[in-house]
Amino acid sequence: RTALIWLRRDLRLDDQAALYHALKQAERVIPVFVFDTAILAALPRQDRRVEFIRETIAALKAQLQALGSDLLVRHASAQDEIPRLASKLHAQAVFTNHDYEPAAIARDQAVRKALSVADIAFHSSKDQVIFERDEVLTQAGQFFTVFTPYKNAWLKKLSPFYLQSYPVERYLHNLAPLQPEAMPSLASLGFASSNLRQLGIVPGDMGASHLCEDFHDRMDRYHEARDFPALKGVSYLSVHLRFGTVSVRRLAAHAYQRDTAGSLSWLNELIWRDFYHQVLWHRPDVVDHAFKPGYDGLPFPNDPALFSAWCEGRTGYPLVDAAMRQLNHSGFMHNRLRMVAASFLVKDLLIDWRWGERYFAEQLIDFDLAANNGGWQWAASTGCDAQPYFRIFNPVSQSRKFDPQGKFIRRYVPELAGLADADLHAPWLAQPIVLRAAGVELGRNYPRPVVDHAEQRLRALALFKR
Ligand code: FAD
Repeated sequence: RTALIWLRRDLRLDDQAALYHALKQAERVIPVFVFDTAILAALPRQDRRVEFIRETIAALKAQLQALGSDLLVRHASAQDEIPRLASKLHAQAVFTNHDYEPAAIARDQAVRKALSVADIAFHSSKDQVIFERDEVLTQAGQFFTVFTPYKNAWLKKLSPFYLQSYPVERYLHNLAPLQPEAMPSLASLGFASSNLRQLGIVPGDMGASHLCEDFHDRMDRYHEARDFPALKGVSYLSVHLRFGTVSVRRLAAHAYQRDTAGSLSWLNELIWRDFYHQVLWHRPDVVDHAFKPGYDGLPFPNDPALFSAWCEGRTGYPLVDAAMRQLNHSGFMHNRLRMVAASFLVKDLLIDWRWGERYFAEQLIDFDLAANNGGWQWAASTGCDAQPYFRIFNPVSQSRKFDPQGKFIRRYVPELAGLADADLHAPWLAQPIVLRAAGVELGRNYPRPVVDHAEQRLRALALFKR
């Protein structure tokens, strides 16, 4: 029996559900990856994610070639190419892992249908999350819309079975022997290189294992350090979880077994990840709409000039600007800052959360529809279990609390670096003589605040109340 294993957001050989099932059931397994023109067409020509994927695919290809096989890499519409390739290679089955995004679900249905016409089976497995779809439900059989009871039910259901890894290595002899094919260059895919390398982001399972090693000793302090963007407190594994260059089962098992305050707090974040995935599965309409229908038509003024100031990191609020500049430079933003920047866009600039969600989706190297939508709707108070609308982050207090010495701000807003810690968070409150001594000229080399927080807070409250 011949089977294709179609890789998507599961770009590894270790503990990979679909790969395991394919290798167990077929004697000739052919790995395939498609650079999907339907997805690539919408992206800017310089995109860190495309480069990350390409480098990861190149590494996987080399691993498979070392095993006497190969990874077939195509640049086409995946929906057309997978059935075509399966027929051409006389496969009896195509194996893949579930993807919960609405567009991916539609694509997979089309592929399943096209394959069935040719009498080829389509098998899809859970791989990306610990619990999916309907696996964790309320006693009334509904999906959870509040995180804490979801988390309790998640933990209650957890058993070693769900964290067990798939012993792919036992069956690798069933990979099809293949003549090595060349790897397409980034240019041939229509993309230019980004600053991925300069950022020190290592793609593939090698990058993931470096980060896991690095985080290993820090995990126990995660709960204390995770909220401070100037500290190395988090794992930075999100891009690897996004593209499946690391197994979520291995990570969750490690955190669970370690059983420290830090490791359990980190596990909690993986549960948030599952939570938002099941929300998206049950409520695919959240992609364009507020989770709470009553909040869908909020009359945001949506000033384009304020939006540009936010995107470009020149709002005059140093922590927000530092956060946006981190995003623009590196494709990453610390979680605390994602909350602050998102809240600022919606509640201070009075701009529709969907604008911010779209900007993050373009920029984030770890962009994940479920988590990004969940995070935005949380900050905008439109989501399930969201921040109540009347609890509005004060960008200056957040700055004082989470970057007290301004280390993070100084890194990304060097024009303010000469200010004392006390003045850095709200430079417009500093004495002119102090500003002058630090070389800061508000309105010239650093903006005055584009809005007044206290005023905008009242406007936001009125807008939500209405
Ligand atoms: P760690 O703190 O080390 O956490 C470990 C892992 O848990 C992360 O890698 C991630 O996979 C998961 N995780 C952590 N927090 C969350 C969360 N709140 N929701 C869901 N999963 C979580 N995360 C994304 O992966 N992609 C996104 O597009 C994304 N957009 C966001 C937008 C907003 C407005 C907000 C508030 C949050 C968003 N997050 C997103 C969640 C979170 O900010 C990132 O996962 C985290 O900052 C990634 O850094 P890390 O890997 O060091 O995380």
